[in-house]
Amino acid sequence: MIKGLQMNEVTMYYAEGSNRITALDHVSISVELGEFVAVVGPSGSGKSTFLSIAGALLKASEGNVRLNGNNISTQTEKELSNIRLQEIGFIMQSSNLVPYLNVLDQLLIVKRMSGKIKREDREFATKLLNELGLGSKLKSFPDKLSGGEKQRTAIARALMNNPNIILADEPTASLDTKRAHEVVSLIAQEVKSRQKAAIMVTHDERMLEYCDKVYRMSDGGLSLAES
Ligand code: ADP
Repeated sequence: MIKGLQMNEVTMYYAEGSNRITALDHVSISVELGEFVAVVGPSGSGKSTFLSIAGALLKASEGNVRLNGNNISTQTEKELSNIRLQEIGFIMQSSNLVPYLNVLDQLLIVKRMSGKIKREDREFATKLLNELGLGSKLKSFPDKLSGGEKQRTAIARALMNNPNIILADEPTASLDTKRAHEVVSLIAQEVKSRQKAAIMVTHDERMLEYCDKVYRMSDGGLSLAES
């Protein structure tokens, strides 16, 4: 079985009135474990659609998507929801933390969703938070965290189920330059040390130095950018 993410000739149409919009046009990409890939492109070029399909939130109109070897076009909704929970870690533009949970519990709630919290879950959460420089913030609530700390909590949360695939949607959108570098370099570090297949959609050209490959999206077409 091939781990990571593979898309083969993926096309996505949206109906808009009597028109058909081609949001993705024969997109092919393969992201291996340990690889950190960036996707850049103007607004409306298809990046969100691409990320939604990569995250099993949307089904492609045509083509094949394999997440960790599972062909997602043949999976039921229940199976897809399991894949999203177990095999994909999402990092969004804003951290989307739960206001009434402390940092440690933000991670443990992920485990609670798929069963009971065990001692090793607590240990793993603490280890992740230490790695991300949040060891002294385990009991802090989101309103006491800086933007960078919130986003680092969100990275730890995305890693909590130990998924093979990490999808980040403009993770630096709300951060200043210093925090942005901090957050993306930490994503890169985790991708390497934990061998994840990661895709980051970004507008931020300064963040591309952390990525192994840069793809450009243009009018629904994806191509490898010269580096
Ligand atoms: P980006 O994330 O790069 O801004 P999107 O994936 O959001 O691009 O959009 C790609 C194209 O698909 C755009 O033309 C957009 O208007 C269209 N589109 C996106 N979502 C929908 C939808 N739910 N219904 C109809 N058209 C959509």
